[in-house]
Amino acid sequence: MRAEDLSKRICPRCGLRYSWIERKRVGYHEYFYAVHVDGGARKKCYLGPKTYENVTKLHYDMALVLKGLLDRDRAVEYLEILLVKVRREVEGGKVGEDQVQRLLALAKRLVEACEERLHGSKEEEDVLSRFQPR
Ligand SMILES: [Zn+2]
Repeated sequence: MRAEDLSKRICPRCGLRYSWIERKRVGYHEYFYAVHVDGGARKKCYLGPKTYENVTKLHYDMALVLKGLLDRDRAVEYLEILLVKVRREVEGGKVGEDQVQRLLALAKRLVEACEERLHGSKEEEDVLSRFQPR
């Protein structure tokens, strides 16, 4: 979970603030819940285990370890692992041209989103540059 979310205690399930994270042990497995306390009422949101062991076994060929909602950075980790896998397949000629085109479009969208996040949108830059003294 990101430090920012931890400090704000934002539930990844419902988006509301939670009071604490509760851990429940069942046999060898641990499951996590975000506990919301509002006055006298208490609500728990299920966040899953730290890792989904059985589902992960089904994704062995992808080298993915599927994680519960407690790990907010899991999407980036999944992408990083899948990037290695897909890159090897592209380089090995195992991906058809249509799929390569699709991958290229996805990569461009991701680069654009990351650049916007770091530098603002291209539209905003264009507008601002028109008003910059030359
Ligand atoms: Zn919740």
